[in-house]
Amino acid sequence: MEIKITKTTTPSEMPAEDKLGFGKVFTDHMFIMDYTEGKGWHDPRIVPFGRISLHPASTVLHYGAEIFEGLKAYRRADGGVQLFRPMENIRRMNNSAERMSLPEIPEQDMLEILETFVKLEERFVPKSFGTSLYLRPFTFGNDESLGVHAVKSATFMLIASPSGSYYAEGINPVKIMIESEDVRTVRGGTGYAKCGGNYAASTRAGERAAKKGYSQVLWLDGVERKYIEEVGAMNVMFKIDGEIVTPMLTGSILPGITRKSCIEVLKSLGYKVSERLFSVEELVSALESGKLEEAWGCGTAAVVSPIGKLAYGDKEYEVNGGKIGEVTQKLYDILTGIQWGKIEDKFNWVYKL
Ligand SMILES: *Cc1c(COP(=O)(O)O)cnc(C)c1O
Repeated sequence: MEIKITKTTTPSEMPAEDKLGFGKVFTDHMFIMDYTEGKGWHDPRIVPFGRISLHPASTVLHYGAEIFEGLKAYRRADGGVQLFRPMENIRRMNNSAERMSLPEIPEQDMLEILETFVKLEERFVPKSFGTSLYLRPFTFGNDESLGVHAVKSATFMLIASPSGSYYAEGINPVKIMIESEDVRTVRGGTGYAKCGGNYAASTRAGERAAKKGYSQVLWLDGVERKYIEEVGAMNVMFKIDGEIVTPMLTGSILPGITRKSCIEVLKSLGYKVSERLFSVEELVSALESGKLEEAWGCGTAAVVSPIGKLAYGDKEYEVNGGKIGEVTQKLYDILTGIQWGKIEDKFNWVYKL
């Protein structure tokens, strides 16, 4: 691929590492390429970061044709930069594209885009443990017409944001409310695709939970409101009676790369992991009998997020005395250790740039 690079004439300062939030500041450049039916992807280019201009009838603004990914570039102790399982993100983005009738991007091209872009913006990869350069690739339908059909033109972009440690104030277990009204998605819907529409539809429940003092909701399935699916925008895992249980991928659950990595790490440590349907009744009975030992969410942003309290209806239950559990902590240490290059990567997950 021939990527045309136009560098900024006004380079910005790398912001102070202890003041980085999440997704608020961006690097100096952005990657763009266009798709036209019949012609395929064309004009891959890196240009100075800035606003883009869209036709008011652009498909994305009316019919929500949009997918995205989220991954991080990590600074190792030896100064080098690495990605974590980037091919997993690349393949998932193509699965999302297929579901939303948006054009896919050849895997090797996407890897080359990520690599070229991160190398160009290397100085924006922060150095302290827990911080990273968050990478956000996204594709949107961009036909300049209101007709409803699979798009004939699309735009792919990659932007990057130096981001602070998710746990700048330490790992504090969160309070979660089981949501029995709104659902995130349904089987047959778009749950397994990383698309903006899923987020738009799940914001209301999150806001309502926040008003009641909870950080997020635990989603139940859209058909029976019975089986546990995810927590907020993370996958969810439980330790019950020594065994790890996580909802199976039914199609309405996002197949998280952190989820997959947690499962592989847990199995390598000798834990029994079952991916199966897990009902809210089963969860409540494990909470009431004291058999629920740990619960945590997992995703790229937080790595793991321990759940300290769970509310169902008007009852509130404490998990592991409101403290982070042993397995949750172990997963955090191993995954962050591999990602920031502090421990040996015996799984062959990191991709050094
Ligand atoms: C991105 C995402 C996850 C986590 O996926 P990772 O690959 O682990 O970051 C989980 N659930 C939803 C809804 C997501 O969008």
